[in-house]
Amino acid sequence: MGAVASRVHAWCAREVREACRFRIEGCRALLEERLDIARACAGALALDFGSQYYLCMNRIVAYLGIALLCGALLVPLASGTAEAACIKPPTQRWPSSTVPANGSVTWNPTTQGYINSSVQAWTAVTPSPLTYKPVVWLTSIPGAATGLKIIQGRFSGDDSAPGFAIGASTANHSAVTVILSSYASRWSWSNTQHGPWHDSGAVNTDIRTVVIHEVGHAGGLNHPNVCTSNPSAAELAGVMTAQWSAPRRALGSDDKAGFNALGY
Ligand SMILES: [Zn+2]
Repeated sequence: MGAVASRVHAWCAREVREACRFRIEGCRALLEERLDIARACAGALALDFGSQYYLCMNRIVAYLGIALLCGALLVPLASGTAEAACIKPPTQRWPSSTVPANGSVTWNPTTQGYINSSVQAWTAVTPSPLTYKPVVWLTSIPGAATGLKIIQGRFSGDDSAPGFAIGASTANHSAVTVILSSYASRWSWSNTQHGPWHDSGAVNTDIRTVVIHEVGHAGGLNHPNVCTSNPSAAELAGVMTAQWSAPRRALGSDDKAGFNALGY
């Protein structure tokens, strides 16, 4: 494989992973589309660089369009933000800069503390554009409750990701539900251990890593490589990058820059 083909292959592989992540975020029914992208990228290795790039981009754009219909997250592909986390459209924001937060009493007090600290990491950004109130733990969160809701459960039976931020792509959303997977045969939660981010059977998933990422979506941020095919080092190091190999419990410079740019 030549150097150009090798780079193209790496690029396509990354885009396929990200596309799959979008399916994870909101759209379970797109398995065929994912396979289609994989086939396109694999088959295109025989083509020249320009053709392959164009083919893959077409696939990714088509995929993201479908993902939007399914309520997944999307920002204009052309709005690259080199050093600020990828920001969703202005309509996909909380209607107020102070947001209540509720959690269901699924976790022990230690884990509740970790979850709350991951939420408050965003409030602590200075100057803080958005304030999450301390998480109030309830045995049952009313369906009509507004604000950030953190529960354990399964999103439409989709167990392909450890967490989802449901409602985060809705215009002027007044409620976002962060679902942390309760599907124990694929995901298991840990405060101290950490397995791979992807779904490869039951793993130790770092709860702080997932909560801080999903709350970033709730606030208005997206995965950086939705905005650019060439994320900066700062973007790749942030919590909003969807893949990680070690716990990411603290916001990076790019996460903070993006959060401050949200316009609350
Ligand atoms: Zn995400």
